[in-house]
Amino acid sequence: MHSSHPVAHDPGAAKTPPHHNDPGLERYDVVVIGAGAAGLMCAIEAGKRGRRVLILEHADKAGKKILISGGGRCNFTNLHTTPDVYQSQNRSFCVSALTRYRPQDFIALVEKHHIPYHEKKLGQLFCNGSAREIVRMLLDEAEAANVTIQLYCRVTTIRRGDGFLIETNMGPVVADSLAIATGGLSIPQMGATGFAYGVARQFGLNVVPTRPGLVPFTSRGQALELFRRLAGVSIPCTASCNDASFTENLLFTHKGISGPAILQVSSHWQEGEQVHIDLLPGFDLPAHLKEQQAARPKADLKTILSALLPRRFVEAMGETSLPDRAMNQLSPKDISTVAHRLKDWSISPDGTEGYRTAEVTLGGVDTTGLSSKTLGASGMPGLFFVGEAVDVTGPLGGYNFQWAWASGYCAGQYV
Ligand SMILES: Cc1cc2nc3c(=O)[nH]c(=O)nc-3n(C[C@H](O)[C@H](O)[C@H](O)COP(=O)(O)OP(=O)(O)OC[C@H]3O[C@@H](n4cnc5c(N)ncnc54)[C@H](O)[C@@H]3O)c2cc1C
Repeated sequence: MHSSHPVAHDPGAAKTPPHHNDPGLERYDVVVIGAGAAGLMCAIEAGKRGRRVLILEHADKAGKKILISGGGRCNFTNLHTTPDVYQSQNRSFCVSALTRYRPQDFIALVEKHHIPYHEKKLGQLFCNGSAREIVRMLLDEAEAANVTIQLYCRVTTIRRGDGFLIETNMGPVVADSLAIATGGLSIPQMGATGFAYGVARQFGLNVVPTRPGLVPFTSRGQALELFRRLAGVSIPCTASCNDASFTENLLFTHKGISGPAILQVSSHWQEGEQVHIDLLPGFDLPAHLKEQQAARPKADLKTILSALLPRRFVEAMGETSLPDRAMNQLSPKDISTVAHRLKDWSISPDGTEGYRTAEVTLGGVDTTGLSSKTLGASGMPGLFFVGEAVDVTGPLGGYNFQWAWASGYCAGQYV
């Protein structure tokens, strides 16, 4: 336990439902459920305002997802954060929070704690050292703001009366304000639950149907055979689906395809749809092949293509999908077929790897029931939802943490 304010009671003691004014109950100004990115930020901000804050976390540690994020280095924000990159049924909901708490604000915090960082690419900021430094920073800030963190704490019921009565495996707690920061469904083995959705429904809010996002695709049959042969091969590409396009790497895996371009596009894909892949983005392949017909007429098509794409890929594709001929034997139709295969390769994923490996959960607590300024539930004063639990989802690259910080920060001013 992180604090000197124990909320632990004898788990078997509360046989009759306690009354809200029971003098034996711990009373806090604010209870935050979930010690992840958004919950810690919300608690820190509320604590700085002089509110007495308790975080209830069911896992054995705070910030577990931060620890595994960005390959252990935490891609904690993105310099190019703009509200229009976020997915939501209500695209303008995130504008308010994201403009009040910007990447520069989080960077200032990181710099205040002397955490070295760098831009890896595309505005993505990572720790030079370890994601542990970000968790340490948040825990230090929480301690400075007198926030109490109770780990191993499972909330069993929440009731509204004079404040919120929260029953836990460690006894009851009463709070004037309650912030739900329990995240989405991604990576259940790390403690992810649908808890926030249950609380939302209990208090009359809608939940936008959820699905895994930023997740590898799985395949079957011949496609899977090909991908397995190519497992480990990575190719820069543009992957597109439903008007969304991402130019990054594609990675073949033993289950299907992954890599940043595929993770990005997966958030825009629905079951049954095709994904289109341009393996030579910005490159005029037909013109190049015609040029090579003149310059190297005897060369094999595969040799010419191997100068542009990984040899393993060209060989595997060559067996089924590319003409096994010399350049001077290719007809104009052959050239357009080859160009089509490589520049508009259509893949029909069988599915995704699901929440087991998804980086985020799309959908969540419906923003129509929340204030974009305070993150508070419109019909239930004192109840707030922050972070990934809310129907706001960013692309890969630090955007999801930026939403967690920003929504936590804003709610922290009002809880
Ligand atoms: C492998 C991986 C890598 C990622 N890398 C990045 C990255 O580099 N950059 C980026 O921007 N985003 C990244 N993300 C996404 C990012 O981690 C999340 O969007 C972000 O953590 C959401 O913050 P949150 O506080 O809303 O939820 P979470 O961080 O998930 O925190 C929720 C907390 O609530 C707790 N909790 C859940 N249910 C209960 C309950 N019933 N009672 C009590 N506690 C509960 C959980 O244990 C957890 O501590 C990554 C995600 C994954 C899975």
